[in-house]
Amino acid sequence: MGQSIIFTVDLEDWFTDGRQNRISSWNNYELRIEANVRTILTLLAKYNAKGTFFVLGWIALKKPDLIREIHALGHEIASHGFAHELVYTLTFDQFRNDVRKSKDILEDIVGTRVIGYRAPCFSMIKWGLEILKQEGFKYDSSIIPNTFHDLYAKLYSRLDKACFEIQENFWEVSLPVLQMGPVNIPWGGGGYLRFYPYSLFKQGINKIVESKGLYNFYIHPYDLDNSQPRLADLSLLNKLRRYYGLKFTEGKLDKLLNDFECKSITAYYPFLSTLK
Ligand SMILES: [Zn+2]
Repeated sequence: MGQSIIFTVDLEDWFTDGRQNRISSWNNYELRIEANVRTILTLLAKYNAKGTFFVLGWIALKKPDLIREIHALGHEIASHGFAHELVYTLTFDQFRNDVRKSKDILEDIVGTRVIGYRAPCFSMIKWGLEILKQEGFKYDSSIIPNTFHDLYAKLYSRLDKACFEIQENFWEVSLPVLQMGPVNIPWGGGGYLRFYPYSLFKQGINKIVESKGLYNFYIHPYDLDNSQPRLADLSLLNKLRRYYGLKFTEGKLDKLLNDFECKSITAYYPFLSTLK
């Protein structure tokens, strides 16, 4: 068994991307999440691995039994907000309402405290962190430090440590970047796992673990779904980001789980659960 890493899932469906489809249209689409989540759960069980599932509130309302089942299997349930809106497009109150609603829904379903949050498309900004703390979250996992991407928030952050205290009793468990000279390449999973050959991806993980002491992996259920309907009106770049290499994801995930000991965020950092 290799090095311990954090394993996370952003639990949303193929159409729940607020940039392409507003939440008002989501009822028109076929839910495909369950089968894809089951593939992930089966792989995790095969290696006795655990993960943190950042669940979209809208999905939790549609699939409460699935969320309860994930929780009962020993995985951590955390929040991915309710409507998948980019944080920097919302007002303070809109963001507060979105995260509060998702936290209430999830806590109702699983019956335990939900303390973690991940922003849609890693769109976290400074005041968002303040609101998360006020709403009772203990950690955020949305910052991809010092990188260039048209969606990610430009929230500059420390590179020397991957997990750090932002305010008293509120922590950031940031997403990994691979430093190549002056450039920081996002290396968290999802599209990056689909894009790079596995051996190269694994080398990057090992480098990051060596330099930061932590690697925080993420995947979406739709990253494994080669039969998903294709969203209309995507730019060529966004098509590549969403659909490149889908049919190889499952095999790569199997290798990752074999090569690394995967844990949820609160299993990796038990102190987070004890914060008042
Ligand atoms: Zn998302």
